[in-house]
Amino acid sequence: MSRDLIRTVGFQPRERNVFFHILTACNLSCRHCYINPDQHGKATLSKETIDEWLRLFYDPDQESNLIFLGGEPTMHPDLAHAIKTARKIGYHSVTVDSNGYLFHNIMEKISPSDAVLSFSLDGPSPEINDPIRGKGVFATCTANLKKAVAKGFDTSLIYTVSRMNIDYLEQMPALLHDLGVKRFFIQVIGIRGKSAGQTKDNLQLSPGEWLSVIPQVAQKAADLGIHVIFPKVFLEEGEQFSCAGQVAENFFIFPNGRVYKCPLCEDFPVHSFTIEDGKLVPNTGLTEDKFFSLQIAEGCVMNKLLQPGNIDYDKQGNPLHRISCCLLKQEIKPGLRAEG
Ligand code: SF4
Ligand code: SF4
Repeated sequence: MSRDLIRTVGFQPRERNVFFHILTACNLSCRHCYINPDQHGKATLSKETIDEWLRLFYDPDQESNLIFLGGEPTMHPDLAHAIKTARKIGYHSVTVDSNGYLFHNIMEKISPSDAVLSFSLDGPSPEINDPIRGKGVFATCTANLKKAVAKGFDTSLIYTVSRMNIDYLEQMPALLHDLGVKRFFIQVIGIRGKSAGQTKDNLQLSPGEWLSVIPQVAQKAADLGIHVIFPKVFLEEGEQFSCAGQVAENFFIFPNGRVYKCPLCEDFPVHSFTIEDGKLVPNTGLTEDKFFSLQIAEGCVMNKLLQPGNIDYDKQGNPLHRISCCLLKQEIKPGLRAEG
């Protein structure tokens, strides 16, 4: 018998990931949306500002990867221009994270070599997906996904797992295989943005729920030839904890000029930098960096502060699980097999 290898993807030296929210507006209103206009503003960046900020965050000495986000990034009329500018500047990869509506005929304006198109679905059918993401979303998203695959675009799909849809995750590998999607990102619901106000709904998963479902579904998808990426979440005995804020280069940029290094901090004015007059200015005072260096038995400090409910303790008060950095991923690549 053989099984695919689940591998932890460590933070890569000489890699920079730029998560660029070019607007916060969206045509949908998903139940777990993390966009927080009070903190991230309501602005749509101008074409000139996008070009300027793309140059600001590009580092020729590192592999610079760019992810366009919103809101819904395809609602920006200059997205195609921005993708081509990023390519000219030299970004190693460009991805557009879309809710699937693909406004402004984006697929007619860029070519498959320009960008990866990433779609979001939270259920294998309209009955499961649409109560979370909106009426008619499943049909539109899957129709556009099929068009993207037919046009030769490299596609991926993000599924945000919560108590609302965990029971249906196992149906996703077959759907993705039928749709021709190459990469599957399984995401865990966080308490950010709107989810923060829904703790009473108890959408978050327990360690038992996560560990009993996610690796098995990931394996099933890999068996169908799909590359699966999912968060580590719980560190095993002996595994080392590291904070991406200290050891990796990730920038989460918002249209109001805030720049964070940690996505868990995005609901608070503790951003590391502000973009002022086209320059990246480090902030002083209580910024997210102050939390990164704190060593606690539970692992990630921000998780302990924001989501203490997902840590269980023994009678002596020791945590039963350490929580990894939310940016630490695991992957299963099809074809990477080990005897076991
Ligand atoms: S598609 Fe994205 S930005 Fe739009 S409401 Fe849903 S989660 Fe929020
Ligand atoms: S999620 Fe936790 S470990 Fe990761 S960057 Fe943020 S504070 Fe650091």
